[in-house]
Amino acid sequence: MRYSGFRVLAEGLFGNRGWKPVWREPEPKAEYDVVIIGGGGHGLATAYYLARNHGITNVAVLEKGYLGGGNVGRNTTIVRANYFLPGNSEFYSHSLRLWEKLESELNYNVMHSQRGHIILFHSDGQRDAAVRRGNSIVNQGDDAELLSVDQLKRMIPYLDYEQTRFPIYGGLIQRRAGTARHDAVAWGYARGADARGVDLIQNCEVTGIDVQGGRVTGVQTTRGAIRAKKVAIIAAGRSSQVAAMAGMRLPIESHVLQAFVTEGLKPVIDHVVSFGMGHFYISQSDKGGLVFGGDLDFYASYAARGNLPMLEHVMEAGMTLMPMIGKAKILRGWGGIVDMTPDGSPIIDKSPIDGLFLDCGWNYGGFKATPASGWCMAHLMATGESHEVARRFRLDRFTTGHLLDEEGTGSQHNLH
Ligand SMILES: Cc1cc2nc3c(=O)[nH]c(=O)nc-3n(C[C@H](O)[C@H](O)[C@H](O)COP(=O)(O)OP(=O)(O)OC[C@H]3O[C@@H](n4cnc5c(N)ncnc54)[C@H](O)[C@@H]3O)c2cc1C
Repeated sequence: MRYSGFRVLAEGLFGNRGWKPVWREPEPKAEYDVVIIGGGGHGLATAYYLARNHGITNVAVLEKGYLGGGNVGRNTTIVRANYFLPGNSEFYSHSLRLWEKLESELNYNVMHSQRGHIILFHSDGQRDAAVRRGNSIVNQGDDAELLSVDQLKRMIPYLDYEQTRFPIYGGLIQRRAGTARHDAVAWGYARGADARGVDLIQNCEVTGIDVQGGRVTGVQTTRGAIRAKKVAIIAAGRSSQVAAMAGMRLPIESHVLQAFVTEGLKPVIDHVVSFGMGHFYISQSDKGGLVFGGDLDFYASYAARGNLPMLEHVMEAGMTLMPMIGKAKILRGWGGIVDMTPDGSPIIDKSPIDGLFLDCGWNYGGFKATPASGWCMAHLMATGESHEVARRFRLDRFTTGHLLDEEGTGSQHNLH
C-alpha cells in the first residue's frame, strides 16, 4: 500500500477502514540465504538494502522482542555529518545524503527535520578545534559554519552566555543536521524490507550460533533452529553476548546511556544544541517535549535503565546552560544499552568465522548511521568486499593499532 496525502484524505472520509498492516507476521522458515540477528534500525536497514540494492530477498530478520524496541526507539534522534576524522567523515556524509532522500525512498514519513545542530565552544583552544573540524567537514563536501557569540545570541538567546565556569565563546553549526522520528525509521525500513519479501520475525531470540569447520551454518532460536548461508550480528548493546555464542570475544563494553523528555511546551528550541563541556545536549520534539541527555552512566551494565547520579549531572548541566529549563517538568527518563568500542568508532566487517558478519560498536551515535550502516553492511554481505566509505571500520584495527579515535577519549570512555 502506497502512502500519500490523497490516501490520508480518502481514508479519513471512509472511517479509516482501508489501512493494511504495515508488515506480515510470517512463521520462520527452516532455511534462509541470510539471517540477521537484531531487528533494530541497522538490522532492518541491512535487510532493506540487501533486497533493494542486491536482489537478495531470502532473508530473515530475527528480533527477540518487537521491531524497534531497542536503541533505535530509545535514542535522542540526532542526525548529523559533522565528524572530523577520515574514515568517519565520508561514512557519515554518505549517511546524511541517504537521510535526505529517505522519506521518498521508503514512501514513509520519518519526520526528518534539518533544523541545524550547534556545537558550543568555551575557550580559544576549543575555537581552534572547532575551526579545524569545520574545515574537515567542508573538505568532505558537507556544510559547517562558525558562529560568533553575537550570532549565537540572536539565534539562541535563551542560553546563559556569561556562566562563570564555561562562558560561551561561539559555536559550530551544521545547518543540514537535525533530527528524525526514531521509531518511524525502524518502521519505514521494516515496511520496505517486508514489501520486498524479507521475513521479519518478532519474539524470536537467537540463543546459539551454529559453526561447523570454521563456517557458520545457522542459528538456534526460541522458535527452533534456522539454517543460513550467511549470518549477521547486528544486535547493538547485546553484540558481545551474541558474538560469544560463536566463541568470539569482541572489543566492546556495554554501557547505559540515559535520556529525558519534558512535558510538551510551545516551540522554544529551534535547533539541536550540544554543550560538550557539561555533557549535555538538547532539542525539542515535534510534540513539544524538550529531549535531552548527557553522557554514559559510568559503569558497564546490561540494564536498559539508568541511575540517579547521571540524572542529577544532566539536570545540573541543563540548568547551567539554560536556566529557564528549570521551569519545565520532566515527563520521562529511560536508558538504552550502547556498544562502546575502545576508539568510539564502529565495526562493519567480516568475522574470523566464514559467513558470519559484524555490524556493531555504534557507541552513542548509531542512529544517524542507520541508512549508511544498512547500505554498507548489505554491500559487504552481498559482495564480500567492504564498501568504500566503510573501509576503516575493520575489526582488526584493535590489534593492528589503526584506531579511529574520533572522541579522543582513548579506550576508557567511562572515565572522560
Ligand atoms: C539514550 C540514547 C540516546 C541516543 N541518541 C542518539 C542520537 O541522538 N543520535 C545518534 O546517532 N545515536 C544515538 N544513540 C545511539 C543509537 O540509538 C544506537 O547506536 C543505534 O540505535 C544502534 O543500532 P540499532 O538501531 O540497530 O540498535 P537496536 O535498536 O538496539 O537493535 C538491536 C536489536 O537486537 C535485538 N537483539 C539483541 N540480542 C538479540 C538476540 N539474541 N536475538 C534476537 N535479537 C536480539 C535487540 O532486541 C534490538 O532490538 C542513542 C542511544 C541511546 C541509548
